[in-house]
Amino acid sequence: MSEKPRFVMCICTGECPGFQSLNLWQLINYVRNELDVEYAIVHPQLCVDDGDRFLTDYIKSNSKYIIGACDPKMQRKMFKDAFASVGGDFDKQVVSLDLRNMSTEEAMNKVAEAVKQLSEAAA
Ligand code: SF4
Repeated sequence: MSEKPRFVMCICTGECPGFQSLNLWQLINYVRNELDVEYAIVHPQLCVDDGDRFLTDYIKSNSKYIIGACDPKMQRKMFKDAFASVGGDFDKQVVSLDLRNMSTEEAMNKVAEAVKQLSEAAA
């Protein structure tokens, strides 16, 4: 595995009540500026057709991803085929975080912890 993880935030169209208490831009700027990641990006809705197309364009089979979104089990179900289609492995490459119903600070802490754990695992 190479490099630092990429952080991908799926914000459920921006309309989902589960993310109402999250300040997306504070979170994304914190992750990209303060944490040890390659970069941080936002996608509005990864689990629909254009999200699939984005993932298959975007995923590299040797990179690590932290995906902030909904239930990790649902993420696995929805994204594993996109990883497999480019020769990747969702289970090995992705740390899925459920960031619903969290304050911005809680979400920041959860992402920071995931980045730290990946960094320790790679050391
Ligand atoms: S992947 Fe999860 S967080 Fe993203 S749009 Fe779909 S249901 Fe919402």
